[in-house]
Amino acid sequence: MVVEITSTIHVSNRCNLKRKCAYCGFAAGSSSAGYYRSFVKTEEEVERAAISIESAGIKRVSISAGYGNFPAVLKAVQTVKGKTGLEVLVNVGGDLNREELELLKSAGVETVCCNLETVNRELFERLKPDDSFEKRLKVCELVKEAGLKLSSGLLLGIGEGERDREEHIKLLKSLEVDEVPVMGFRPYPETPMEAVPPAPLTLQLRIIEEVRESLTSCRRITVPYPTVGREGVIPAVKFGANNVATVVPKNYPLTVKGVGSPEVGILEELLPLFDSFGIETNVERERLPL
Ligand code: SF4
Repeated sequence: MVVEITSTIHVSNRCNLKRKCAYCGFAAGSSSAGYYRSFVKTEEEVERAAISIESAGIKRVSISAGYGNFPAVLKAVQTVKGKTGLEVLVNVGGDLNREELELLKSAGVETVCCNLETVNRELFERLKPDDSFEKRLKVCELVKEAGLKLSSGLLLGIGEGERDREEHIKLLKSLEVDEVPVMGFRPYPETPMEAVPPAPLTLQLRIIEEVRESLTSCRRITVPYPTVGREGVIPAVKFGANNVATVVPKNYPLTVKGVGSPEVGILEELLPLFDSFGIETNVERERLPL
């Protein structure tokens, strides 16, 4: 098996949801361990980030932002597609409609990610009071209708139960997802969930394995580095993850913080780790500076 590496460009941490999600350390003002200060990346910053990613031999990038940033995200996609050959995933949660999906498709986007996080409606409404499960589900359906690849994942360890996780996997199967991020909760300080313990790695590994066994036609099982950390990457791959996300080259030109935790994967540190376990990646190594 060849493990894919997906990098990241965070276009903006502004999010127009009035009440932020209880676990969010990404949105402006949510956690001093996150970005905290509000930003929208310029075209030039996006271009420099994309070129550093491609120059390091990485082939795919996630372009993401909070709610209310569609014009900046579309511009970022156009910049990345105009300046590099990177494959692009866009993640702006449930903040998309049919017309916007068509614009992303026309700009060359391959995959759109809309995580449901949990199918437990009571839990969803408590942790994401200004978000909408039904809207997110609708966006997932529209992504498939638009002929784009759908990424949609689970956030584990936020208070969901075994039955919620089973129902979630069944729902993902019915949506014919192309990619499933399996994310373990990690608390960001100063957020409403700062005292909730992180999801056990064993839970994350078990769900990766269950997704792999249940969703046999799903092309990517993704483990975002910030939700698993260095100690969890190799076990995640051994249990069935074939895409490690939120990995940047060490010369990445922008400040970057993970969405699930501030930590991100550094390509030049991860590659020797994969090598030591005999795990191949899709990174074009001859592009890496000596
Ligand atoms: S998790 Fe996403 S949707 Fe929720 S507050 Fe943070 S940026 Fe906004």
